[in-house]
Amino acid sequence: MNDCLFCNIIAGTVPAQKVYEDDTTYAFLDIGPVSKGHTLIVPKEHAVNLTEGSEAAATAMMKTVYKIAPGIVKALGASGYNLGMNHGTDAGQLVFHTHVHLMPRYAGEPRTFVKSHPAQEELATIAEQIRKEIFF
Ligand code: 5GP
Ligand code: ZN
Repeated sequence: MNDCLFCNIIAGTVPAQKVYEDDTTYAFLDIGPVSKGHTLIVPKEHAVNLTEGSEAAATAMMKTVYKIAPGIVKALGASGYNLGMNHGTDAGQLVFHTHVHLMPRYAGEPRTFVKSHPAQEELATIAEQIRKEIFF
């Protein structure tokens, strides 16, 4: 039994609001979003961070960002997004499975990195909106 949180989300043993999945990557809503639609994109291959994992996993993760970012922006009416990665405890990494944060941004809204705590129902609605705009 793997005790990595994101491996368990990928395996479906920990629930998450999935927005996209393919053979090598998985994308789901962050439980503590800093903006509406804050999404985590992860390689399925377990590694504690980008450079501990394979080059194939790193490039697959960014390929998924490339594929799904336009759908997230369109689905939610965002006007842009931030991408971010935290490598190591001193950089703010909390979950030690490689992931990139995609944080949609909206015209006129402050660009903060303060976490919110929406209800699961709200996250489920947002994930459904996003999935409708992602066609692969
Ligand atoms: P890090 O600080 O490691 O870059 O980011 C980890 C992210 O995982 C945080 O933004 C946090 O809100 C998110 N997170 C932590 N636990 C869970 C969880 O159980 N489910 C989901 N969907 N996200 C989580
Ligand atoms: Zn893992």
